[in-house]
Amino acid sequence: MKMFLAIVAVALLVWVVPYLWGRWRLRYLRSRPLSSLQKRLLTHALPLYRHLSRQQQSELESNVSLFLHDKEFVGCEGLTITEEIRVTISAFAGLLLLQREHRGYPDLRTVLVYPGTYVARETHVEGYIETTSDSAREGEAHYLGPVVISWSDLQEDMGHPEHGRNVALHEFAHKLDEEDGAFDGRPVFSGAGEGRNWAAVLGREYQRLQAISAGLSDDEETPGVLDLYGAVSPAEFFAVATEAFFVTPHALRHYHAALYGELRGFYRLDPAELLPENLQVS
Ligand SMILES: [Zn+2]
Repeated sequence: MKMFLAIVAVALLVWVVPYLWGRWRLRYLRSRPLSSLQKRLLTHALPLYRHLSRQQQSELESNVSLFLHDKEFVGCEGLTITEEIRVTISAFAGLLLLQREHRGYPDLRTVLVYPGTYVARETHVEGYIETTSDSAREGEAHYLGPVVISWSDLQEDMGHPEHGRNVALHEFAHKLDEEDGAFDGRPVFSGAGEGRNWAAVLGREYQRLQAISAGLSDDEETPGVLDLYGAVSPAEFFAVATEAFFVTPHALRHYHAALYGELRGFYRLDPAELLPENLQVS
C-alpha cells in the first residue's frame, strides 16, 4: 500500500503537476490583454485583422499575447528590440495558429532579430573533406531551436505584398512543420481524416515548381505566385506556399486552386474570401 501511494505521489510530482502548471501558464499568458499600442501595431502589421470576425480577432490577440510573454526576443548586431518588432513578429506567429488547439510553438524559446540580411557560416562534410562557406540570409528556423529574422527584409516584404513574400510567415511555417519531428513539408493535422489529400496535392505542386525551376516546363503562370526557392525541398515548398497563401491569396487561389484548398483546410482560414481583391495581407 505504501509503495502504491509512493508511486502515485511520484507520478503527481513528475507528470501531473508540470502538466497542470503548463496548461495554467498557457491560459494565463493568453488571457493578458494587449495594450492599445500593441493593438495598433497588430492592426498595422496585419491588414487581415480588421476583416476577421470578432471571435477570431480576440483569439489572435490571445495568440499574440502568449507569444509576446513566452518568447525572448534578442537583437543581433546592435539592433534594439522595439515594441513594433516584438508585436509584428508575434502577429505573424499568432496568425498561423488561429483556430487550432496549440501550445504556442512549444519548442521555440528565442527569436533572434538582425537589422538586415546577415551572413551565416555553413560547414559541409563529405567524406574526409570539410568545406566552410558563408551565405547571406533573410531568416532561418533551427530544428527545435530559435527562429532568426532580418527585420529590414520583413519590412520590405510587408511594404511590397505584391511580391508574395514574408520571411516571418516562412520561418514560423517551418516551426509548425517540425512539430511531428521532421522538416518534411507535412505539419501535424488536428482532426482525424484531415490532410488526406495533402501529400498528393502538395507533391504534385512541388514537382510542378521543380520543373519550372529547372527550366523544364512551359508553364508561364507560376513564377511570381510561388517563389522558386520552394523547389529546393518539400519543407521549403510548404513554407513558400504558406507565404503566398497569406500574402497573395487571390493569385494562389486562381493559379493553384487545389493547393489553396489544402492550405485553407490546414490554416482554417480563407484569406482570399476575407480580403478585397485589391488588398493583400502584408
Ligand atoms: Zn525555409
